[in-house]
Amino acid sequence: MSARPRIGVLALQGDFREHIASLTELGADVVPLRRPEEIDALDGVVIPGGESSVMDKLSRTFGVAEPLSAAIRDGLPAYGTCAGMIMLSSRIAAGIPGQQTLGVLDTTVRRNAFGSQNDSFETDIPMPALGDAPVHAVFIRAPVVEEHGASVQVLGALADGQVVAVQQDNVLASAFHPEVAGEDRFHRRFLELVRSA
Ligand code: GLN
Repeated sequence: MSARPRIGVLALQGDFREHIASLTELGADVVPLRRPEEIDALDGVVIPGGESSVMDKLSRTFGVAEPLSAAIRDGLPAYGTCAGMIMLSSRIAAGIPGQQTLGVLDTTVRRNAFGSQNDSFETDIPMPALGDAPVHAVFIRAPVVEEHGASVQVLGALADGQVVAVQQDNVLASAFHPEVAGEDRFHRRFLELVRSA
């Protein structure tokens, strides 16, 4: 790997531009990922927020889903936010009929877990693994992690215990959007995973 890790941001749908900006700011060489042949050159991949059912369909249509899933299983570091977390998860609750995922994170993730009354909200969440200051978390029609395997590390949960940030080896995921909150510690942690891979 060169001094600047090469990061692909899945750019089929969603807020990929915000992730490209955050990672560029941190010194990565960032490219939009749209085609399967682009995966091999990457040191890491980010899956943005957006609409997971649309991202799922597009990623299968473009032939990206299967090779991307295989690359992450093989150790390619990955970070997903919100819809990206759903894409990474092995199991979905409240997916649309036929919705699939990359299946690389041993979790069950419930889509739109906060319902229409609480569609979008912001809150500060203590996450000791990321440092002393709490994480300012922006939730937009967000999922939660309903259940996870023993090898999944919980990085953050809401005051009521709902799990919203996890890591399993090379896979990092948050139900909220650090990329829209000026919160760079998740992207830093992801780039550390990339450097140590
Ligand atoms: N509700 C969206 C989904 O199911 C996720 C929303 C988001 O990424 N902000 O994919």
